[in-house]
Amino acid sequence: MTKVLVVGGGIAGYCAALAARRERADVTVIARAPGATALYAGGMEIVDDLEAILSSQHHPLARLGMDTVGLATELDAAISTLQLALGKEGLTFEGGWRTRGLYADIHGLARPANVVPQTVARGELGALTGKRVAVIGIPQVGDYDAASTAQALKELHSIEAFAEEISIPDLPQAAALTDLYGRRAPAPRARGAAIAYPPGFTNLPADGFELLAAAPSPHGWRLQQAIGLGSVNGEITSFETGPGRVVAARTANRAFRADAFVIATGRHIGGGLHGGRTTTEPLLGLGVFHDGAPAATAGARLHHLKYLDPAIEMRLGVMTDKRLHPLNEDGSAPYDNLYAAGAVLGGYDYSGACGFGVPILTGWLAGRFAARQS
Ligand SMILES: Cc1cc2nc3c(=O)[nH]c(=O)nc-3n(C[C@H](O)[C@H](O)[C@H](O)COP(=O)(O)OP(=O)(O)OC[C@H]3O[C@@H](n4cnc5c(N)ncnc54)[C@H](O)[C@@H]3O)c2cc1C
Repeated sequence: MTKVLVVGGGIAGYCAALAARRERADVTVIARAPGATALYAGGMEIVDDLEAILSSQHHPLARLGMDTVGLATELDAAISTLQLALGKEGLTFEGGWRTRGLYADIHGLARPANVVPQTVARGELGALTGKRVAVIGIPQVGDYDAASTAQALKELHSIEAFAEEISIPDLPQAAALTDLYGRRAPAPRARGAAIAYPPGFTNLPADGFELLAAAPSPHGWRLQQAIGLGSVNGEITSFETGPGRVVAARTANRAFRADAFVIATGRHIGGGLHGGRTTTEPLLGLGVFHDGAPAATAGARLHHLKYLDPAIEMRLGVMTDKRLHPLNEDGSAPYDNLYAAGAVLGGYDYSGACGFGVPILTGWLAGRFAARQS
């Protein structure tokens, strides 16, 4: 049985483990801490325009060398397997990569998403048109104002929204939204309206839905808890390598030997990239690229971009070949049994339309390639 070690406990590492287990590999996932996955707002953006992605030279999905049919087939398999697995952990998600809806966050601003928790799905803005919406406010909570959310829903999305304040007297003084996490949703007085709740409550009524979150995110925390159940807590500090192969990954007191390794270590929040004057990949010294060129050759330009246009600077990351083997700065793939997936990859807008799409699909493929060692 092939032994696969996945480094990273975010959505990319989870999808890599799902795919490798499907290939009957013996999989260990090791994770240091929650990363960006635990902060997502509550709507998974998978892809918007596959044709446009394929026409971009450095996008990680374009680098796979697949056509739109191949990508679509893999996305179908990855998303449905992920939804099934999360369902088994008690988290039901709706939607698919071909569908796209708009969902309001706690400030009433709309965000697009393809796959959302069932508790968010009922709040799709198009489906709320023509309905009355009661936005639940909790007077003890200081970092959220239902009245201004209701006003934004009215002004920005023409939804007939109004605020309804419900007191929860046993909340701590100067309570925050996070203090609502895991509490039973209070029942509103309003009748015949859809009910928008700030995120975190449980046992929503049939006509209730959750708004998207700002970080720290109850949606992210639920997802992180569900996907982290089977992982080993630890920090990989180095890899043991032989000619053309990785042999083991090491924590401070243990070596994890495996036949194949997936690094799904995330970007700056996860710890897969180290910022500074030049961004580096800390575990194996892999190449970090921007627009296809090694970051080290860009001088101070990228460092300045971090302040002038962070979205462009954030396209920095590791580059891979068609089988998701990460590359050195010179463009060669140093290890046959090493694969990279998720937000550690550069070449795309990480807070944009593929925020979850790249981690899910590259995780899914890297897990399979690792299990087959192809
Ligand atoms: C604030 C915020 C909000 C976002 N909201 C959305 C959204 O609403 N929709 C959307 O589609 N996208 C969103 N994104 C983007 C999306 O969350 C990320 O692209 C995605 O979660 C990245 O997943 P990942 O598994 O690649 O990385 P991460 O989730 O960051 O996971 C990396 C993992 O690697 C582990 N790790 C790193 N180094 C080591 C090591 N040496 N040893 C052991 N473990 C290690 C970390 O501990 C962590 O577990 C958001 C991002 C942020 C930052």
